[in-house]
Amino acid sequence: MKAEKDKVVAVAYTLKVDDGESGQELFETVSEESPFYFLFGHQNVLPKFEEALAGKEVGETFSVFIDFENGYGDYDDSKKVIIPKANFKEEGKKNRDLLKVGSVIPMQDDKGNQMRGEITKVDYLGVHMDFNPPLAGYDLYFEGKVMAIREAEQVEIEHGHVHGPDGHHHH
Ligand SMILES: [Zn+2]
Repeated sequence: MKAEKDKVVAVAYTLKVDDGESGQELFETVSEESPFYFLFGHQNVLPKFEEALAGKEVGETFSVFIDFENGYGDYDDSKKVIIPKANFKEEGKKNRDLLKVGSVIPMQDDKGNQMRGEITKVDYLGVHMDFNPPLAGYDLYFEGKVMAIREAEQVEIEHGHVHGPDGHHHH
């Protein structure tokens, strides 16, 4: 079976990243023991990543370089904002625990788009948040191996995403 649209593909890989200044650094390792499963052909992964896997069979290796423009885009300073602390209060006391450097918080912009922001600082000005994707501005180097391929369940194709290794995860 080959990796192609409407197949569930499991891959193990390492991802090295390079911001153009400090050289390559290891960002992520996905082991062969617990590979990453995704539904091929449904925009769940970067298009270039999928291109590199297209037609591969179980046991085959792949390596792909994706420059930042084809990855997560350039780093955008305008996506760094300061939000008044008061904006975090309405949902109750518990949110205080979230106001820590490093916390990633899902929010909506004024057009209703979902976005995730990381808190980079909290000071008298408010909560400093960065809405850039974590890998914005980085070139990406993937090296990996196809671990498994199976037919997707109909419900997975309808939802556009994988429901776990055996396809029977309900949500
Ligand atoms: Zn689903």
